[in-house]
Amino acid sequence: MKPASASLKRLAVLGATGSVGEQALAVAAAFPERFCVTALSGRRVARLADAVRRFRPELVSVADADAARELRGVLGSDAPEIAWGEAGLEAVATHGADLVLAALVGAVGLAPTLAAVRAGRDVALANKEVLVMAGALVLREARARGVRLLPVDSEHSAIFQALAGQRREDLQRIVLTASGGPFRTWSAERIAAASVEQALAHPNWAMGPKITIDSATLMNKGLEVIEARWLFDVAPERVDVVVHPQSVVHSMVEMRDGSWLAQLGVPDMRVPIAVALAHPERLPLLDEMKPERLDLAQVARLDFEAPDLARFPCLGLAYAALASDEIAPAVLNAANEEAVAAFLAGRIPFPAIADTNAAVLDAHRARASGGALRDLRDVLEADAWARARAGERLAAGRAA
Ligand code: MG
Repeated sequence: MKPASASLKRLAVLGATGSVGEQALAVAAAFPERFCVTALSGRRVARLADAVRRFRPELVSVADADAARELRGVLGSDAPEIAWGEAGLEAVATHGADLVLAALVGAVGLAPTLAAVRAGRDVALANKEVLVMAGALVLREARARGVRLLPVDSEHSAIFQALAGQRREDLQRIVLTASGGPFRTWSAERIAAASVEQALAHPNWAMGPKITIDSATLMNKGLEVIEARWLFDVAPERVDVVVHPQSVVHSMVEMRDGSWLAQLGVPDMRVPIAVALAHPERLPLLDEMKPERLDLAQVARLDFEAPDLARFPCLGLAYAALASDEIAPAVLNAANEEAVAAFLAGRIPFPAIADTNAAVLDAHRARASGGALRDLRDVLEADAWARARAGERLAAGRAA
């Protein structure tokens, strides 16, 4: 074991070769006196091998046994302990770290993140599906163990920063900002014919493909509404969304005296990542990593507009799921993952993502289920059920 010291924070990173994971490793590498990386998981073997050489973790996890053999071959005698699959993710999550960065994408991150919480590890949460699918459960477990959940999502980081030092009972409302995505100004007809390439061309943020498509449908904002509802323990009707195309105001809170508090900055995921990794301190990113500084005179204007739920029905579906039952958000999330994968594979047109999500959510509401979320099995069952329904629909081509 590497020595733990008061100044050195031990990090475990789930999803180290994804967009957030790689940016987090860049932050950790820029501040070697503050962070050491003790465990990593990743799907891309060559990039993971680079990270292993740079950070010398004690444990690394890959997708499967073949990838483990490949990584061992690449690293030779330099290889640390190599694990794989679900067990490997849980091993990384429960490794002796001070903070686990949950940066997997999608439902696959739920079990390992819950394992980290149950092991008493503080979690920097980038994997929003964890709270979308199992918010009630994860919050219960985190509270019972005194585990901190630190948001990495830029909007939730903004709210977290705005609420620092405020009394929770003084919070009136959360207002999430949305860039509006690449189709903000497009007509419904034009959106209906949008290509994968056009949907992947996000105006402000460089992110992975799944979340970029979710930004184009506004499903990402819907998932963030659900995430905020749990992370900040507020009723859904106290979470609002406003479209803000410049992505300078990363989100806001309204306090009960009518004051608004906002966090602003140049869109750069390294900032919310650093806020979570270094909490309660702030890292001198301006000196060390030279992110672009916000120049408001150059930005000149900040625009805000109401989201259009007719052109972007996925946002409304998130509120509908929250109003339905505790299981419904997991159903919506699973349907959406299947639909987005089908869109990225060129199998369905863009509007079929929302159609699939709506149909599967309707089917869930029509089935006789209590909808209470008791344990992980309830979530995984709902997830599997929704994927099967979405799969049938997508295979039959009815979504098209
Ligand atoms: Mg976000």
